[in-house]
Amino acid sequence: LSPVPSDIEISRAQTPKAVDILAKEIGLLADEIEIYGKSKAKVRLSLLERLKDQADGKYVLVAGITPTPLGEGKSTVTIGLVQALTAHLNVNSFACLRQPSQGPTFGVKGGAAGGGYAQVIPMEEFNLHLTGDIHAITAANNLLAAAIDTRILHENTQTDKALYNRLVPLVNGVREFSEIQLARLKKLGINKTDPSMLTEEEMSKFARLNIDPTTITWQRVLDTNDRFLRKITIGQASTEKGYSRQAQFDIAVASEIMAVLALTDSLKDMKERLGRMVVASDKNGQPVTAEDLGVTGALTVLMKDAIKPNLMQTLEGTPVFVHAGPFANIAHGNSSVLADKIALKLVGEEGFVVTEAGFGADIGMEKFFNIKCRASGLVPNVVVLVATVRALKMHGGGPSVTAGVPLKKEYTEENIQLVADGCCNLQKQIQIAQLFGVPVVVALNVFKTDTRAEIDLVCELAKRAGAFDAVPCHHWSVGGKGSVDLARAVREAANKRSRFRFLYDIQGFGNLPICMAKTHLSLSHQPERKGVPRDFILPISDVRASIGAGFIYPLVGTEARSANDSVSMMCGCIWLSDVKGPPWSQ
Ligand code: ADP
Repeated sequence: LSPVPSDIEISRAQTPKAVDILAKEIGLLADEIEIYGKSKAKVRLSLLERLKDQADGKYVLVAGITPTPLGEGKSTVTIGLVQALTAHLNVNSFACLRQPSQGPTFGVKGGAAGGGYAQVIPMEEFNLHLTGDIHAITAANNLLAAAIDTRILHENTQTDKALYNRLVPLVNGVREFSEIQLARLKKLGINKTDPSMLTEEEMSKFARLNIDPTTITWQRVLDTNDRFLRKITIGQASTEKGYSRQAQFDIAVASEIMAVLALTDSLKDMKERLGRMVVASDKNGQPVTAEDLGVTGALTVLMKDAIKPNLMQTLEGTPVFVHAGPFANIAHGNSSVLADKIALKLVGEEGFVVTEAGFGADIGMEKFFNIKCRASGLVPNVVVLVATVRALKMHGGGPSVTAGVPLKKEYTEENIQLVADGCCNLQKQIQIAQLFGVPVVVALNVFKTDTRAEIDLVCELAKRAGAFDAVPCHHWSVGGKGSVDLARAVREAANKRSRFRFLYDIQGFGNLPICMAKTHLSLSHQPERKGVPRDFILPISDVRASIGAGFIYPLVGTEARSANDSVSMMCGCIWLSDVKGPPWSQ
């Protein structure tokens, strides 16, 4: 329709097919799905065993240039592309998307179901609650938080004997010590491996964790942006006997448990990762884990349904997995490894799985490759790099773009110079993708104010910068048929051999990759520096670890006071020097 109705009007005007019919269409057996309402289902992991000999389809990542605060259409391009592939070119395809947090959904950014005629439906079900995975994460996270403070209280207020009596069911329930527990026993001078051989005295010693409350890094979480919970004092009831301390609530999707969910590949692996999560240090500076607190089993059982990917559909009835949604700043910002693995089997060798990385290519894509692909072992075939004329004009020196404020005339009228100047950001992001050895197709997400000359210029400059192809897309205004050219270009690029490689080895950091926590609004650490900022030193204010999820995350400050204050880390790509042409063509 013209003008294009609102996202919610479009979503509500389409009746989704029943999810059991969708499941049948994509080859799922009746006992491989668990239906939630009419349009959502969870898919059981047993499917991976049934299809283990099936060859994987092609793996496509949608990333973007440095965006404006409004978002440049990565989700809509992802959805438009699978609609084009499946509904218009008759090629099996799957979109794998992140589940949005209530924080952004009710904030400036809004939901993440796509937009216009490229959406996942029903929109409200996608954006709110889904099948309760975020609530499961909240429950597991807060159980662990409660276990930490309760343990400190009991250890400080009870005799060894009383503590032993309280904890003995926890410790006795263990038939075998984990590696973490064995290491702790050794440090305590107890060289026994069989739990039943521990004396009462040894058991009490083992049960006492001696957590240093000032080192607790595990916070309580809630899926609501409630700013008044950012700093709180806990433990003020008289029953807590003065064991009160300053704490905070984070948004639920920032929990390390969300990152664990996104990176795990089986129930067993999830249990191990949950057990390894470090929550504090003891008074000797040794790490204290969820496993030490005896809650690994409880966390796993709370997450046992959340681990199964959620099946939904696009406006054109094509399949979508919505699973996991770690933030792209303090975590790696990608949907789950499990959804991708299952989808790659379901589409078959000739099919396509299209997934999206949060933020710009310098963050989301870099983390997709170096963290997610490292964890999954999957090799991407094509990068689709989303650009908009509006964001390029901003990089070319256009006035700032603010959510809720009407765009200035530079953005609504033709301005070739601003576009030409801003293409430096697109060129840099193409180079970054090429460093990983994966062919790049640029998807220019067309807005109604873009002119022919502006569109042609972007496509021309993108190809000159080394993109395999650059294509204007109209999925937002007309649906999948507006992205058929993009789908054809992606199919062709996928025939090239991917020479995928990681940009750094994981030696030296306890075998963990690095997850930079930095602004997405600039290639540098300063959001106002657009285009391709040069000669900056990246200030690192702190370095933290998500041991369970499996990455180190340096926090990037906003100001480098001097070169000595900064740790310069080769983790993204912007520090690497010139690229010598696209590796796949060599
Ligand atoms: P991202 O995934 O990059 O954050 P989205 O795909 O969520 O971006 O799009 C951000 C917003 O912009 C959505 O509300 C979407 O409907 C809108 N949008 C995307 N593409 C277009 C377009 N071509 N024309 C108009 N609005 C668009």
